[in-house]
Amino acid sequence: MRLGVPKESRPRERRVAATPESVKKLAELGFTVEVERDAGAASGYSDDAYVTAGAKLVDRAEAFGADVVIKVRPPTHDEAGLLAEDAMLISLLQPERDEELPAKIAARKASAIALERIPRVTRAQKMDVLSSMANLAGYRAVVEAAQHYQGLFGAQVTAAGTAPPARVLVIGAGVAGLAAAAAAKALGAEVRAFDTRAATKEQVESLGAAFLTVDVKEDGEGGGGYAKEMSKAFIDAEMALFAAQAAEVDVIVTTALVPGKKAPILLPEDIVRKLKPGSVVVDLAAEQGGNCALTVPDEIVKDGGITIVGLTDLASRMGQSASRLFANNVVHLMKELVDGKALRIDLEDDVIRPALVVHRGEVLPRPAPKAAPPPPPPPSNRPRSAPAPEAKPAQKDIKSPTRRAWGTTLGGMVLIVGLFVAGRFAPSDFLQHSTVFILACFVGWQVIWSVSASLHTPLMSVTNAISGIIIIGGMLQISSSFDAASVLGALAALFAAINIAGGFLVTERMLRMFRREVK
Ligand code: NAD
Repeated sequence: MRLGVPKESRPRERRVAATPESVKKLAELGFTVEVERDAGAASGYSDDAYVTAGAKLVDRAEAFGADVVIKVRPPTHDEAGLLAEDAMLISLLQPERDEELPAKIAARKASAIALERIPRVTRAQKMDVLSSMANLAGYRAVVEAAQHYQGLFGAQVTAAGTAPPARVLVIGAGVAGLAAAAAAKALGAEVRAFDTRAATKEQVESLGAAFLTVDVKEDGEGGGGYAKEMSKAFIDAEMALFAAQAAEVDVIVTTALVPGKKAPILLPEDIVRKLKPGSVVVDLAAEQGGNCALTVPDEIVKDGGITIVGLTDLASRMGQSASRLFANNVVHLMKELVDGKALRIDLEDDVIRPALVVHRGEVLPRPAPKAAPPPPPPPSNRPRSAPAPEAKPAQKDIKSPTRRAWGTTLGGMVLIVGLFVAGRFAPSDFLQHSTVFILACFVGWQVIWSVSASLHTPLMSVTNAISGIIIIGGMLQISSSFDAASVLGALAALFAAINIAGGFLVTERMLRMFRREVK
């Protein structure tokens, strides 16, 4: 099978869909790789390197005429016209921006997989080009901001004077936002971030950044990890927060996107005017219309001392790394598609089917997205500007540490009084056993309730080990006489065995979720 790698034709696009390294892996999968001359030049991969890796250099028409064509950007209509009958095109396609493109591909009786439509599920993480590119774009956004900002990102104390750290606000803490927060933090900035999805709070805080909140209770989780469109009340509250933040911060990196919608305007002109002269806004949503009203896509605008960066090729500006990650994602996808020496498209596959836009000349309908969570409670409209480090969570934390500490102290006091009373009337070995029993219950309770749900799998292996000890202890208590110790010992062994067996069953079920069905 021939696999073609054309040179990207879009202006300023430096990436290429295969690197010399990935060519070797594609060849191992059984492909004859044909790379268009100069395809990797803009990202630092020479024709010679491709040839050394085993690729054949070809012209444009040959690269597009292969059995499988891999590309970064959507093809132009002319390029789609070069596809061979029965060929498979794999690239970003964005059919919602160019509705005629799928029909052009279908007219060639070809198939097409839109890389941006690969579902963001754990099994598909290694093929997720959106994440790999967003990660680079977030990092690059901070590099661009640092270039235009005339101050230091990290605090400095010198003989000539001191400089405070730059204050960076990240709006939208998805993949790009988190990468931006991490990069700004690494440069020494004081970072704060905001997102509509409550799940991002922990991720932001784990980077050492502060998570800002508004008092409107509405979760932005729209299913599949993506955001949903927020109510007007929420957006208003959010903008009031940003208006207050604008007076404090030096850099704003904005990444807020809702799939399939125009980016929400979160920084209207009046908020931008509140920024100090010299401040920088980097708008990563520029390609989808921008989060800032003053953003001009692909331009760097200077307005009233504020720089607004609307570049849409941030990942491409890191061409070499971006191509390497993109090419790796494509290789992982090809491994899913290649069966022996042929391509096998499984229309039941829950990763491939949603991404398959055209199949053998037929434009496929988009499968229904996963059901959205239940509608949020009616919002109240009280915006709050939260100063970064002291930002208080708007929602009450059920397992708040203070409450838990009170509970623990109270439990401890009841335990001491109970043991004191028992010590006066009960036999001494009863006291000893009940102390161990109560302490075991207490430690067990604390261990399980204090561990976050994401760590329950490793916790399960520890509790299985403890259950093993319980079984041995229980068996030692079982004797031929039908006394309380025997019964309790038998019960302990039974429940511990149920716990271990249940643990294995749950683990097996979880592993099955990650396993691919072989059809
Ligand atoms: P995105 O680029 O579509 O959106 C960026 C961020 O903007 C999101 O976090 C979103 O919540 C936020 N946002 C939307 N409207 C907003 C508003 N009005 N104000 C503030 N923020 C707003 O998202 P993404 O970064 O591509 O991915 C989002 C999430 O998807 C990830 O954080 C992750 O949870 C999930 N994901 C999962 C996988 C996986 O499991 N394989 C892979 C990638 C991403």
